[in-house]
Amino acid sequence: MKSAFEAAQQYFEEAASIMGLSDSMKDLLVTPEREIKVQVPIRRDNGQIATYIGYRMQHNSARGPMKGGLRYHHEVNADEVLGLASLMTWKTAVVDIPYGGAKGGISVDVRDLSVDELERLTRRFVDEIHDLFGPDKDIPAPDMGTSSQTMAWIMNQYQKFHGFAPACVTGKPVDLYGAEGREEATGRGVSNLTLAFLRRFNRTAENSTFAIQGFGNVGTYTASCLQQAGARIIAISDVNGGLFNPAGIDIPAALEYSAAQKTLQGFPGGTPISNAELLLLDADVLIPAALGNVLTAENAHDVRAKFIVEAANGPITPEADAIFRQREIPVLPDILANAGGVTVSYFEWVQNQQYFRWDLSRVREELEKYMTRSFNRIWTIAVEKKVPLRTAAYLLAIGRVARATELGGV
Ligand code: GLU
Repeated sequence: MKSAFEAAQQYFEEAASIMGLSDSMKDLLVTPEREIKVQVPIRRDNGQIATYIGYRMQHNSARGPMKGGLRYHHEVNADEVLGLASLMTWKTAVVDIPYGGAKGGISVDVRDLSVDELERLTRRFVDEIHDLFGPDKDIPAPDMGTSSQTMAWIMNQYQKFHGFAPACVTGKPVDLYGAEGREEATGRGVSNLTLAFLRRFNRTAENSTFAIQGFGNVGTYTASCLQQAGARIIAISDVNGGLFNPAGIDIPAALEYSAAQKTLQGFPGGTPISNAELLLLDADVLIPAALGNVLTAENAHDVRAKFIVEAANGPITPEADAIFRQREIPVLPDILANAGGVTVSYFEWVQNQQYFRWDLSRVREELEKYMTRSFNRIWTIAVEKKVPLRTAAYLLAIGRVARATELGGV
């Protein structure tokens, strides 16, 4: 299987050759600006020292300060973070917010650490890299395994070195300079975009069925927003497995159960299925909203969904993507589908810089505007150039980054 960075490269190369991008510009856009790898030692609650590895990959800053999440997961490695950093460069360009792309992470299983240990880990990581981020340099945000609490610790630790600077990180708690609606933003954006996508095929939420993999931040808000729009969600899942109910799963009840039990297992509103089975269900729309690389050359031929929405980053391998193209299953690509999170991060950063707070309805309204405008642009490119939506998104993004690079010069 291709690594995350190689996968992102493949899509980049395809679009770059359609655009006739020069080799020198290709070289410049492919090469990350800075790769940071640091040791993050902490004292565990039992008194022992444990050493972790932290990364921050700064891919490109041609269009503005670099932006991207911080992932705490045991599978985090340099290549994955670099691949995700390059996706952030294209994602911020697709939705036209004034940022470049970066990503960070620590290779750690968060389930092994207490809250105190996570706090020490986060503060120590900031100690190692604080000079390389900041409101006008590189702005972290939540991703898998991190939360608004993690962002609060980052802000607090950063400020010990640099003074008051709430815009140094986004996705903070609403009570500590966070934006209303940031937590739901990725899922709400997925829902806005999915509805716009389906409309182009004369479909609505009401007349389509949905299978959603992942019941974390992205999956839960995607499910709630789609259900509020009238969708029938016939399958959901978390790391431990899934649930299937052809009549539709009651999402608020599932949320309540999963919050209390810390798992969906045992929820009475559906029949247990595995995560692998969920991906192959006969649902109209399949939304992988958890890990990368879940749709591969091994299972892509057996997918029965008519549409796929990449709510996760990189859930489809390039090999599987080729199979979906050949099977004419439209895919709404990650760099557009899950861009709602970073878009509301941008709104948070703007509010922090202006010392002014927007209310929730303004955030939701602006988010929808950004999502539909970006979707319509990409749809038009896809139709005009007769290319899949992913290629259209890369064409738009690479064009914007290349133009900024040319204008600014080196
Ligand atoms: N981690 C999210 C992403 O992959 C959000 C990034 C951000 O808000 O900066 O897009």
